[in-house]
Amino acid sequence: MSFSVETKEELARVLAEKRCCQLAELSALFRMDGSLQISAEHHVALTITTESASVARKIFRLIKAVFGLQTQIMVRHKRRLKKSNVYVISLPARIDSQNVLQALGIMDQEGNFSLEPDEGMLKRHCCRRAYLRGAFLGGGSVNSPEGAYHLEIITNDEHHAKTICELLQRFELAAKISQRKGWYIVYLKESDQIVEMLNIIGAHTALFSFENVRIVKGMRNQVNRLVNCETANLNKTVSASLRQKELIEALMSRISVDSLPAPLKEIAELRLQYPDASLKELGQMLTPPVGKSGVNHRFRKLEALAEQLGVSGKSNPEGEH
Ligand SMILES: [Zn+2]
Repeated sequence: MSFSVETKEELARVLAEKRCCQLAELSALFRMDGSLQISAEHHVALTITTESASVARKIFRLIKAVFGLQTQIMVRHKRRLKKSNVYVISLPARIDSQNVLQALGIMDQEGNFSLEPDEGMLKRHCCRRAYLRGAFLGGGSVNSPEGAYHLEIITNDEHHAKTICELLQRFELAAKISQRKGWYIVYLKESDQIVEMLNIIGAHTALFSFENVRIVKGMRNQVNRLVNCETANLNKTVSASLRQKELIEALMSRISVDSLPAPLKEIAELRLQYPDASLKELGQMLTPPVGKSGVNHRFRKLEALAEQLGVSGKSNPEGEH
């Protein structure tokens, strides 16, 4: 089960206690996935369509709780997509649909369809949270925190996209809208904001697993940074010692190694013998052992000598950290 599906399963089980919130959530679900059919007899049929059995059950429960109505759920099998069902929840035909539509904020008191839910419905903090939960259940998805951080709610209604975006902004979330083939996508990209959104809509289990992965990911990144840092230092050691080796070889082509002062001869021979050793390691091979800075000092002298003799090849022992 994907992280997105898990989150929705969890949210489908959350049932707001207050009627105001239940209504707000149902209103969002209807705006996301609802449709109206008006028959020749001017009967209005209200349906809500979802691909999730749990969301269908939730809609059934919400309609029963808010309006005391028993709805029908029909299952349609999608032919094109494997194993994918579509659940259609329809309100009974012989009800006062105008009343229901007005309660859901889909229709105003004059009987006109309204593009946005009325302010009254979103006046309370609790209802705004419930509304966002409904919108997420109706058209939301969230990436697994293992991948790129992304949460979105997708709708074909531009007005509704703006409503959702503004609602998120009221919770101080930096939501943005992008457009794709006639769809409007309200999205969040920051992991902190996704965590906050999961908190707002009440997906607490999803929030904890998101946080766990985020912490592990953070530690993994830190370990990777350390490893990269060590690799970089190792590369520096190797390239510094390569330059030293080249310098010594160039020097040897001009003068005999025995003509070098004993400490320089010693270090030059050791470097040729152990091209991969770090300065510290070379120092430990000397008798008596010499510290890193002492070894560095000897290489500087070799370098100065090479310069005096006009031998090319630059030693740069300071490259090592
Ligand atoms: Zn409420």
